[in-house]
Amino acid sequence: MSYATLSTTFSSSATSEYTFTGLGWTAELDADFAPLAEAGLTPARIIRVDRGQCDVVLADPETGELRTVRADSRPVGDPDPINCPCTGDWVAVDLAASPMPSIAALLPRGTAIIRKSAGSRSDGQVLAANVDTVLIAVSLAADPDLGRIERFLALAWESGAEPIVVLTKADLVSDADFVRQDVEGIAPGVTVLVVSAETGEGIDVLRACAPGSSALIGQSGAGKSTLTNALVGTDVMTVQQTRAVDEKGRHTTTTRELIALPGGGVVIDTPGLRGVGLYGGEGLAHAFSDIEALAEDCRFHDCSHRSEPGCAVAAALLDGTLPQRRMDSYLKLQRENEWIASRSDARLAAERLKKWKAITRSVKARP
Ligand code: GDP
Ligand code: ZN
Repeated sequence: MSYATLSTTFSSSATSEYTFTGLGWTAELDADFAPLAEAGLTPARIIRVDRGQCDVVLADPETGELRTVRADSRPVGDPDPINCPCTGDWVAVDLAASPMPSIAALLPRGTAIIRKSAGSRSDGQVLAANVDTVLIAVSLAADPDLGRIERFLALAWESGAEPIVVLTKADLVSDADFVRQDVEGIAPGVTVLVVSAETGEGIDVLRACAPGSSALIGQSGAGKSTLTNALVGTDVMTVQQTRAVDEKGRHTTTTRELIALPGGGVVIDTPGLRGVGLYGGEGLAHAFSDIEALAEDCRFHDCSHRSEPGCAVAAALLDGTLPQRRMDSYLKLQRENEWIASRSDARLAAERLKKWKAITRSVKARP
């Protein structure tokens, strides 16, 4: 398999259009990593996961140049899929491992977009790790499904990153601003942008609103890949899709891909999500902060907003300031969330320092 795209991109970067810092590596991470560096490990970021192996990008310890390396990720495999390496993760790579480089440690995550796995199991699935912004792509070409956007917003808030709703394909419609207002109405505290990859409208604003690492989520066909190309400025996604067919002409499973942006920042394109199940947590309260605020004015602090006297939520429903649709959406997601929360408590209670210490210990204990 050839990695033409990324290696060409990176090695033509003598002018440092791409740097390790531009990939999101910070001074803080660097300091935490020091004991691992002493143990001969190299920091890297996962750009792609592929059953037991990962493509990672790292700064070559000799030359400092960015390059991509395929590494064995089995050493950090875990029965809980949430703890398995994922696109966007920072890892410690043992470049000297034989027969191929291997991942010796998975570094604690700053943020993680986790959905409930498809199917009946209550496992979580990490869509992207360590992103600062979650870009929720919604096509303007169809009537917006507000309930679905609310669901994506809850998922995004829960990740610890900041959500932005990106209304795509503005060139296809004339009422983009009306839709934007509708969506703003259901997305308290969230920036809603109107863009067109076709005309370039809004792309610069989007770039400015989402520096650092971002992940694109949304339904298939929402325009995520096209938007990624627009952000990069070349057709990197098409090229990568071609690359996903290996030399035997088979399609390999293309999972999430991390793409470096010229001048700094990365974007992770996730595959289209038809339905996303929530995976518990406070994200829902964030996404419905208007209802949470109303509830503070209910007479009873444990008001269920169904039939209690002095219910501020019921009053808002009655006078129309809170649409019934939004309330139903909230209750539905809440039921789902509670069900999950009761089965899996705080599995991502990542105490950074504790994890770092454990990683450092395990690396030092290596033969
Ligand atoms: P993804 O499944 O979310 O990655 O969506 P794609 O990027 O593959 O886009 C789905 C379809 O929408 C493709 O046919 C694109 O050409 C089209 N599309 C994406 N962005 C735009 C846009 O800004 N304007 C127009 N007119 N079409 C777009
Ligand atoms: Zn109430």
